Amino acid sequence: MLVLNAGSSSVKVATFDGNDRPLQSGAVTEIGPNARLRLGAVDRVMDLPDHKSAIAAILAVLDRPVSDLGACAHRIVHGGTDLRDTCRITPDILAKISDAIPLAPLHNPANLAGIMAVQALAPDLPQYACFDTGFHATNPDLATTYALPLAERGRGLRRYGFHGISYAGMVAKLQEITADRPINRLLGLHLGNGASLCAILDGCSVANTMGYSPLDGLTMGTRAGSLDPAVVLALARRHGIDGAEAILNRQSGLLALGGSNDMRALLQTPDGKFARDHFAYWAIRHAGSMVAAMGGLDGVAFTGGIGENDAEMRAQIMTGLAFLGLEFDPAANVQNARTLNTAKIRAFIIPAEEERTIAKSARKLFQNGG
Ligand code: ADP
Repeated sequence: MLVLNAGSSSVKVATFDGNDRPLQSGAVTEIGPNARLRLGAVDRVMDLPDHKSAIAAILAVLDRPVSDLGACAHRIVHGGTDLRDTCRITPDILAKISDAIPLAPLHNPANLAGIMAVQALAPDLPQYACFDTGFHATNPDLATTYALPLAERGRGLRRYGFHGISYAGMVAKLQEITADRPINRLLGLHLGNGASLCAILDGCSVANTMGYSPLDGLTMGTRAGSLDPAVVLALARRHGIDGAEAILNRQSGLLALGGSNDMRALLQTPDGKFARDHFAYWAIRHAGSMVAAMGGLDGVAFTGGIGENDAEMRAQIMTGLAFLGLEFDPAANVQNARTLNTAKIRAFIIPAEEERTIAKSARKLFQNGG
């Protein structure tokens, strides 16, 4: 299985064998005149003007012909109101992903470009779509509905939730390792450049801190997280819609507060401590909201670059949740161990394996001829 995760200026790639074991992984970053291709032993700067040329470059250096990989699965950020489960990409599905562009203007066009590129370069390869919004389809209407006029709600203005592929993988892994004592009320913390929390009740998402778009919720690498909507209006008045969009997506968050969007660099910058404290404070506050949505807490699971590696940040967040009865073993935490305690409310680190989760769900369909 070939898995592609196309972003606005990058394409991540991973390949898996028929048992979902990873074979190769890499990426093209900074698509343009000085794009960088890294895959296996290859690491070179090339002129790759668009997604099609980036994917062609990837296919050219894979260690096996693409036909041997059987199928290609794509991470699609937004499935709109209809698309929930992983599915074979047909003209109808393509149209629906395209219809969801207004809901994810920065992401879905890149995802579509990835699909079209594969179609052009390997027309016989079956293609599948796996949606980042899909896992949150179980959120109740009370959680997803904005109290806006009906006509506006009818235009798709509602909460969707994101990082769903990561949370689905987290739930599957936890079900394996806690089979003897399942966790009913799980707080998932996906803490990467994009960051969110998810309330997961009996394996199903009931609330997510991201909303209509991946801008809502926690303080993130370059996104501000939750804001009074009047702030957005003020930014739009001053900078225009595109200017406000750029500020909200790329110039805010940890970068704006501390001068870097990398947690490690923030340990060294003058304002870095404030930025890190802001991140932790808002993660804790939003965690309170997620726990309320589940009516309590039986376990927490960290994932993402920060969640998996930043022991100090995990400790800060767990300490902030001690009032709920969450305890952790500091030694296990410093070692980035998979299990962070032996207490009543359990705590884990579950590596994000989004590409593998995508490969697994697409393979099931592929093998069943779907
Ligand atoms: P993305 O959302 O882009 O997939 P990642 O999940 O890769 O992001 O997370 C990226 C973030 O993880 C970086 O910005 C950095 O702050 C943090 N990170 C990665 N490795 C470490 C580490 N060893 N210690 C602390 N933070 C780390």
